Amino acid sequence: MDKKKDSERVQLAVEVATKAHEGQFRKTGEPYIIHPLAVKKILEEWGMDEDTIIAGILHDTVEDTNLSLDDIRQLFGDTVAFLVDGVTKLSTARNGMRDIDTYLPETRDNFLRLMIALGDDIRVLIIKLADRLHNIRTLSALPPEKQKKIAKETLEVFAPLADRLNMGLLRMEISDLAFKYVDPKRYQYLKELIVKHNKEAEKGLNKVKNEVTEALKKEKIDFEISGRVKSVYSLHKKMAKHDQNINEIYDLTALRIIVSDITDCYLALGVIHSLYMPMNGRIKDYIAMPKQNGYQSLHTTVITQDKRIIEFQIRTKEMHEYAEKGLAASFYYNEQKLTENYKKGKIEHLPTNLLWITELQTAAAQLKEGKRVDLKKLKLNLFADKIFVYTPKGDIIDLPKGSLPLDFAYRLHSEIGEHVIGVKINGKMSNLNKKLEQGDVVEILTAKNQTPKESWLSKMFTSHAKAKLKHWLNANKK
Ligand code: MN
Repeated sequence: MDKKKDSERVQLAVEVATKAHEGQFRKTGEPYIIHPLAVKKILEEWGMDEDTIIAGILHDTVEDTNLSLDDIRQLFGDTVAFLVDGVTKLSTARNGMRDIDTYLPETRDNFLRLMIALGDDIRVLIIKLADRLHNIRTLSALPPEKQKKIAKETLEVFAPLADRLNMGLLRMEISDLAFKYVDPKRYQYLKELIVKHNKEAEKGLNKVKNEVTEALKKEKIDFEISGRVKSVYSLHKKMAKHDQNINEIYDLTALRIIVSDITDCYLALGVIHSLYMPMNGRIKDYIAMPKQNGYQSLHTTVITQDKRIIEFQIRTKEMHEYAEKGLAASFYYNEQKLTENYKKGKIEHLPTNLLWITELQTAAAQLKEGKRVDLKKLKLNLFADKIFVYTPKGDIIDLPKGSLPLDFAYRLHSEIGEHVIGVKINGKMSNLNKKLEQGDVVEILTAKNQTPKESWLSKMFTSHAKAKLKHWLNANKK
């Protein structure tokens, strides 16, 4: 993905957008055009095609300036107009979902609606992700209340989306940036913990690196080895799973080995296991059995002679590229083929684990033609392990499947969780044992004088809620 000189079309788009946004300013005080140009740069880095880049430059014009969709169509053609329209609708979709209502009246599930709205052309979502990335990078200019809201939404909607598209680098960056606003103290604490840990581990790690390098060279394996940095947010999530015990987190220190083919992946794994003792149950073959998002790699955790615990991740260059860029990388490869289907935004040759995108596109097309689609089945494939439920105000909260009203309440805030007296689900009184379902609107009823009960533990599913409750019970034991 070499840096080419901008084509004439791209130059024209920059001119048109600059003129259209003239006199507008961002909260940072800079001219507004800074933002679309930053989105352009991000899309270029992801290796996106020219139409997507142009649509990225123009993505805010229809909503915020005098430029019309027809102007864009005349200047840049149908595809660019279609993509800009998609991004514009997506922001209205998030507020009222009016447009989608006309062909999708039977579901309250805003998240699903959002996905269907995107289904026409997944490049719309990629532009939206680039837009969100720049907005979150420059979030400090907004008032604190807005910062929190955008940061939360980023963690709950956009980071999982990036993960589902296997865009690993993007997921890491937006979730860490967002987490910093959602919980600044915790962010700072974990960040320092990681720095401290890395410093301590460095010396031992270099020794291991040298030993592994020697051994791999002996086997004539072509490879690159480097340290992998763990993101603050993923550490935060892991700590919650392990009762905040950092000693139970084995992938804090990790080395990544990149080789040229699959055979070498397994060879390298053998070499590492002959050097160090592998930990029981910690060998994962995501090459033979890729993750749901298409991620492939071998993982193993070993104990070195000086009792250090180190995780190794072994993969080919292609797998690595895909782990970092995900769907965007697929676009790049498909662009090389420039098939007719690709030009319409339909990607061919998706990895099997991303076939849900094709499914989504088919479903969206069918719905628009007025055909019936089994939405329940579709949902399962989109987010097998998660449900998305809503506050009465329409904010999206994602929870693991099996979550109960108390999990929801504690997710909103422990202040809310601690004062629960009841719950309304979809407007009707319900009880605390009722499992939440995809798309439920959940209203928590509280009372000031209510206090947490030990019996609530059996009415909770998430370790997050249980940990908060236990903490309160311990602190308030007489
Ligand atoms: Mn924007």
